[in-house]
Amino acid sequence: MHEALQKALNGKRISDADALDILKNAPWTDVVQVGNAIRERLLPERKVGYTAYRIVNYTNVCTVRCSFCSFCRYPHDKDSYVYTLDEMREKTREAKALGANQIFLQGGVHPGIKLDYYTSTLKMLTQEEGVTVRGFSPVELVRMAETYKMPLEELIDTLKDAGLSSVPGAGAEILSDSMREKLSPRKLTADEWCNTMALCQKHGLPGSANIVFGSDETPEQIIEHLSRIRNVQDETNGFKSFVAWTFQPQTDKFYVRYVRGDEYLKLLALSRIFFDNIPHIEVSLLGMGLQLGELGLHAGADDINSIVIEENVLQSHGLTTVAAAEQFIRDAGFTPYRRTLNFD
Ligand code: SF4
Repeated sequence: MHEALQKALNGKRISDADALDILKNAPWTDVVQVGNAIRERLLPERKVGYTAYRIVNYTNVCTVRCSFCSFCRYPHDKDSYVYTLDEMREKTREAKALGANQIFLQGGVHPGIKLDYYTSTLKMLTQEEGVTVRGFSPVELVRMAETYKMPLEELIDTLKDAGLSSVPGAGAEILSDSMREKLSPRKLTADEWCNTMALCQKHGLPGSANIVFGSDETPEQIIEHLSRIRNVQDETNGFKSFVAWTFQPQTDKFYVRYVRGDEYLKLLALSRIFFDNIPHIEVSLLGMGLQLGELGLHAGADDINSIVIEENVLQSHGLTTVAAAEQFIRDAGFTPYRRTLNFD
């Protein structure tokens, strides 16, 4: 057994150098085996979580213009939009009728939206419709605070008071500045992303963390990413889960390569081994499909995230009903349980 893997099996924290060594040199089958063993040690009940929520992309306007994004529009584009509160209410009622009582608000950086739009939306969703709301990526929050000329802490508290209960770890992609220059020079730096997530968590808004890989990132950049997230978690303990996504080919401005199944499973298992401080590892059914997702549950993951209603960014391979999610988990040999976006 590879030395760093044995160290993890013995219950010791592996270092960044260990993780890099595993990523570069350990056979993927060994990494998967150790990831699974650690998951069984941490969560011996063989339970796998799922959740149900609707993504509401409240606007498609975004001035950040990430090189990989085909979703964003300029405010003057003919097909740009900002949903009205009534439109969001209707989408929420549709979600509730399908059994989902959580809304995931995701948009872009729209310089023309007033703060009142966000607070009114959050109040409508939570107080009138009775759903919980996760929303807003770090770059949306930082640019909002700049637009409204308010300290970021004050903005976070304002949104929380209006009903926001958690923030996604969206926009992390690869937390290494040389890679972020290629992804999106106008997005946040790696430090800014980490500081914003830490601030949200210190102000009572937990979230999740992710990595998006499958471009020309290096193993060193992947480990830098994992290390930054583990460091934030040591400080705040606000990440409930971690998930590895792969870039999807959306534009011709950004190189996207094919990620093999063994490569995905190795990184998933490594994340279970590395994150001794994050309770749950999710597998990406939306990005990787059901067959690989099932294998992920035997490689360290204990959550499938689905079911997701409406998804404008990824091609969907997900599950669409609670019954399908539970059956999928049972067929993989585990006991399903339904959780909230905050893992309550
Ligand atoms: S990925 Fe997000 S931040 Fe980047 S351009 Fe698209 S909507 Fe904007």
